Amino acid sequence: MKKPEFENSVKTSNHKELAESSKILSCFQCGTCTGTCPSGRYTSLNVRRIVKDSVKKDISDELELWMCTTCYNCQERCPRGIKVTDAILHLRSEAVKKGKILPAHRKVCGFLIETGHAIPIDDAHSAIREKIGLAVPETVHKYPEALREVKKILKSTGFDELVKE
Ligand code: SF4
Ligand code: SF4
Repeated sequence: MKKPEFENSVKTSNHKELAESSKILSCFQCGTCTGTCPSGRYTSLNVRRIVKDSVKKDISDELELWMCTTCYNCQERCPRGIKVTDAILHLRSEAVKKGKILPAHRKVCGFLIETGHAIPIDDAHSAIREKIGLAVPETVHKYPEALREVKKILKSTGFDELVKE
């Protein structure tokens, strides 16, 4: 049986890996993902198009890749059971390996390396938490000595090198 045209156009090993893990090639472009995407209502993100283009070409340069909030609506509702959000995360990872990442996301990575939290809890928010009876979270905020281990993991996995300016 002749393969669908877009399947023949899966170019790189990264794309092949993405296709196998996410079932992205079974997309029939119904648009349910786009219709259910909260981010797409306010930004230029068109997740249906991302899915379509990602099997045909390198889309590492596309700003829209970073507009997804990873809410998983699209993944939950795709009638083909495609792991849409996971595919976006995979595409982002590939973009980062090519040095392509938005400044705000790089900054968040920096916070993680420095503090063990992507969004550290500052003094103002600590005060609010205390006021409403929320305990210190079970993270490096409560166990500061664990930060050394977090840094060790981020270094040994090459994460720090990957996201540095
Ligand atoms: S909902 Fe699924 S099948 Fe429909 S366009 Fe999106 S990814 Fe493709
Ligand atoms: S996971 Fe991303 S692409 Fe999917 S619906 Fe949520 S914001 Fe949109």
